[in-house]
Amino acid sequence: MDNAHANLGTKRREILKGMLAMSTSLMGLSVLHPVYSADDMVVKGPRVPDVKPTQVSAHCSVIIAKDPEPTPENQGMFSNMGIIITQKGVVVFDTGGSVQIGEMLIRQIKKMTDKPVVKVFNSHFHGDHWLGNHAFVQEWPNVEIYAHENMHKAMKEGVGQFWVDLQARATNNATAGTVVTPPNQVLKGDEVFDMGDTLLRVHYYGKCHTDADICLEVTADKTVYAGDILMAGRVDNMDDGSFIGSIEGIKKLKDDTQAANYVQGHFKFGPKQADIYLAFLEAIYNNVVAFQKEGVSPTDVKPKVIAKMKQYRDWKGFDAVIGRYIALAYTEAEATSF
Ligand SMILES: [Zn+2]
Repeated sequence: MDNAHANLGTKRREILKGMLAMSTSLMGLSVLHPVYSADDMVVKGPRVPDVKPTQVSAHCSVIIAKDPEPTPENQGMFSNMGIIITQKGVVVFDTGGSVQIGEMLIRQIKKMTDKPVVKVFNSHFHGDHWLGNHAFVQEWPNVEIYAHENMHKAMKEGVGQFWVDLQARATNNATAGTVVTPPNQVLKGDEVFDMGDTLLRVHYYGKCHTDADICLEVTADKTVYAGDILMAGRVDNMDDGSFIGSIEGIKKLKDDTQAANYVQGHFKFGPKQADIYLAFLEAIYNNVVAFQKEGVSPTDVKPKVIAKMKQYRDWKGFDAVIGRYIALAYTEAEATSF
């Protein structure tokens, strides 16, 4: 099969899957003359076992993912999902990394309340945080799905299929059947939503973990869902991010919200998560800058900084990513000093 043909096949499959997912009238399909071959069949991976939500504050809960990365065993579940129950309905912050994970999240919400999900927020465009959108559109076709305008841009550039494929590969196809379901509402930052018994405030601080990170503040509870801007205890993938941006962004987030609880995109929540992660980023960055000033060669900076970071050694993912973190800090520090 040549490339053009292969692409056409993939495209057609996506269109078909999309239409089925959106429960669009089947009439439209006849226009496409679909021929189902074996590889056109949408096979669905198994359901994800229930994980009980943990209460964070009066309105807020979170389903904590215990693993740091996707595996066949965890079926691609490695990021947290927030649930906010308000007078005007349920709000979800991040929907998980597959349709199956989204469905599991919906099952837990239905055990907590009879209210429908009225708003979904996607913290950023990494697929472990939003591929579960598919399940929400199936359950509530009119649900509003919000994301920063830069996530909408990334979706147009194909980040969705990249993550569908990545999750399928990492889980031996446990996530099969997940259809890219983009957000349908655009955020720029500083939006405020009145949910009756609390306000929801959107915060955007430019490029931090990515250029599309939003944080959601639940004002009545002083709880902030921070997405991957905060990663205390579990580090991964700064490749789309910025050190200087993250450090400035976290400082502003703290000033703007004075939150009593920060819910991270992975691992933990707690009152100190912003301080802990800020200290970690500053330690890396300030050490890199200091060694650069001393004229230490680029190759020697890495081991010297790692030696200064001993207290963080037990953080999940530390050994795998610390080198890339330092390299990024080095590049940014160098660019700033000229
Ligand atoms: Zn991420």
